[in-house]
Amino acid sequence: MFKIAVAGTGYVGLVAGVCLAEVGHQVICVDVDENKVNAMKSGLSPIYEVNLEALMQKNIAAGRIDFTTDYQDAYKDADAIFIGVGTPEQPDGSANLANIATVARQIAESIRKDCLVIVKSTVPVGTNDKVEQFIHDFLVHDVKVEVASNPEFLAQGSAVHDTLHAERIIIGTASKWAEELLMEIYEPFRLPIVSVTRRSAEMIKYASNDFLALKISYMNDIANLCERVGADIQDVIEGMSFDTRIGSRFLKAGIGYGGSCFPKDTKALQYMARQHGYELRTVSAAIDVNHDQKTILYHKASARLITFNGLKVAVLGLTFKPGTDDVREAASLANVPLLLDQGADVYAFDPAGTLNFSKHFPEGEHGNGRLTFATNAMEALEAANVCFIFTEWDEIKAVSPVDYNQRMRTPLVFDGRNLYEVEAMEQAGVEYYSIGRNSTR
Ligand code: NAD
Repeated sequence: MFKIAVAGTGYVGLVAGVCLAEVGHQVICVDVDENKVNAMKSGLSPIYEVNLEALMQKNIAAGRIDFTTDYQDAYKDADAIFIGVGTPEQPDGSANLANIATVARQIAESIRKDCLVIVKSTVPVGTNDKVEQFIHDFLVHDVKVEVASNPEFLAQGSAVHDTLHAERIIIGTASKWAEELLMEIYEPFRLPIVSVTRRSAEMIKYASNDFLALKISYMNDIANLCERVGADIQDVIEGMSFDTRIGSRFLKAGIGYGGSCFPKDTKALQYMARQHGYELRTVSAAIDVNHDQKTILYHKASARLITFNGLKVAVLGLTFKPGTDDVREAASLANVPLLLDQGADVYAFDPAGTLNFSKHFPEGEHGNGRLTFATNAMEALEAANVCFIFTEWDEIKAVSPVDYNQRMRTPLVFDGRNLYEVEAMEQAGVEYYSIGRNSTR
């Protein structure tokens, strides 16, 4: 078993740290956020992920995981240091590598024994070569240090399961030493490992994410055409899904992808290609379709109503997907400000994302409108003039067609996740608009 440090305790770092401890490694997680570290020390997870907190508490009790802001102490005698800090999008679409550079420098100043640095963060191809050089440039003690790429494929909402039962682990290394060490670290997981070069590993991550983003945008494009030609996207999806060359997963129409990964990773790959004089037209198309898709329901609703001013608008779902508290790049963030600008009285419900959403838009007056957080879906729907569905949480799926009719002042529903059968909503007397299907009228 190895002594492992993990830099960054977000969705990737914390889940990696907890799962590495779970298989028996001695783990110390480092974050710059003192509040987060204090909460984690007392067994509280700063993020919502199924099973994460329980596993965290179990491994704290077993003495296999600890949390600190003291990076020097954490890094100095680690066998391996995983980097899982954020690489957010910059205004020009490129990845911001400032956090990676900071950690690389902190590692160079701290390590006192041979160490493998493993980059889990999503970084442009060639970054790991630079990180290795950067560490060597700032190295204080005479130790051997190498960098490996180990991109992360977990999906928020099922992050712990995705890590413990990953379909594959990608490792990109530049030496036999690094390859063998990383394989040994992952040995207790007993999962398939694909070992490639660092650059190929970096590219596998972008190519995978962007393929999924493309798949989503393609289906949304087809859904928009379905509406115009009188086909039903749900039927089309069913028909396509039997073709194993296409596969049934991610074959969905909706109001576009969000989250911290697809939006930034499509733009980063597009930027990287342009830097090399190549226009990645497929990915650019995915980005364009997604941009328009996010507000497609808002525009449909605007065309249906005279104004939102003074209307009570129920918003069901704020997170970019169910099972997470993350609202980064969520459809709600694109639509709620438009509604508030138009003077709507927005009542929003989300089972986990309210706190994060309130960091962008707190409860209260916003220009002409007002935002209130409801404690459940029924409360949000009470006497509402119109309802938008942005996230397919179970708590939202549990609302029946009849509930919309009975609760709302006017049962007018714009569903971005195709949660209901059109006929069922029609029969319940709901005026229902969704994605890629013929609307009620
Ligand atoms: P996040 O924003 O949730 O967490 C990053 C953490 O790093 C924060 O807690 C921050 O305080 C901390 N941090 C920043 N600088 C630090 C430093 N110098 N030392 C220690 N900690 C520091 O990010 P995330 O969603 O976990 O994503 C991390 C990386 O993994 C990104 O590159 C992302 O693209 C990639 N990724 C994310 C997912 C996902 O589903 N979220 C999946 C696969 C890959």
